[in-house]
Amino acid sequence: MNEPLVELERVTIRFPDERPVFRKPASWIRAVSDVSLAIMKGECLGLVGESGCGKSTMGRAILKLAPLYAGNIRFMGEEIGRLGEKAFNRYRPRMQMVFQDPRVSLNPKMTVFRILSEALHLNAAVEKTAYLEQAVKLLDLVDLRPEHIYRYPHEFSGGQQQRICIARALATDPLFVVFDEATSALDVSVQAQVINLMKALQEKFGLTYLFISHDLSIMAHVCTRVAVMYAGRVVEVREAAALFESPRHPYTKALKNAVPVADPESVKQLGILKGEVPSLSDPPPGCPFHPRCAYAEDICKKEVPGISPLGEKSWVRCHLHEQLWNLGKLRNRKELS
Ligand code: SF4
Repeated sequence: MNEPLVELERVTIRFPDERPVFRKPASWIRAVSDVSLAIMKGECLGLVGESGCGKSTMGRAILKLAPLYAGNIRFMGEEIGRLGEKAFNRYRPRMQMVFQDPRVSLNPKMTVFRILSEALHLNAAVEKTAYLEQAVKLLDLVDLRPEHIYRYPHEFSGGQQQRICIARALATDPLFVVFDEATSALDVSVQAQVINLMKALQEKFGLTYLFISHDLSIMAHVCTRVAVMYAGRVVEVREAAALFESPRHPYTKALKNAVPVADPESVKQLGILKGEVPSLSDPPPGCPFHPRCAYAEDICKKEVPGISPLGEKSWVRCHLHEQLWNLGKLRNRKELS
């Protein structure tokens, strides 16, 4: 796990907000700002944050489903961020995505066999005559039966549909899979099954995952490391257990405090984060979290915090993280409530 598979270097993604004036957009939605991150071979990197913080856009940009405004994206050491569609097609089979809602990502007019055959078509190692055999193998991998192969998506439950999406992602023999809120639309019991399946497949094939979710509690079970995103910026990256044990960014701490626990005493101490997520078309200057941060000082309103290393492949972006940690502010569960 010491070699990066995917590297993001100062990645910035912007979309025009209003109708362009003299061919220039009147303003921009800054979906992702200056994100540098490495996803190591064989790891599951979690990307967590509130809705609209830019995490899905970032995942899509890696697979060229969102346009890069500035920065670089490397896959297996090769620059892919600036490639044209045709040149990028070489990498497409090696990078796959599983989306949130399987009902809309599966074509209702296609049987499972046709859905899987379309994906197998991108896998140069599989002959057309072997599609049926390969499709049955893929179904077996996701715990679906061979007789399911000629059924249509509406004949399956939500969990089974998501398994079909995972089988389709595996059909191209990928190295890297982005799960974009892939368990959010499922019932809790089904969520656990799909997560266990994802983990088993990761181990079996040595896959690298980017697991995007707004739910910090799931991250502890799934991820090796977790990156926390706020208003288009990654504010903390830590090993998953350490992030839960001792968050070093006030926003991570607030996210952790907002996770409900099955203990009536603890529920009383839930930290409620005040204020709204800032608009990405007009983010606050300095640290984007400052309007909601209980510890903000003058510098936070003026300067974007830089990266402070916390150990191997771990860092935080907060002007005051050391001071707050030494004062015990980030250790106290009640502090942000
Ligand atoms: Fe809060 Fe300042 Fe740290 Fe931002 S930089 S999280 S405003 S203390």
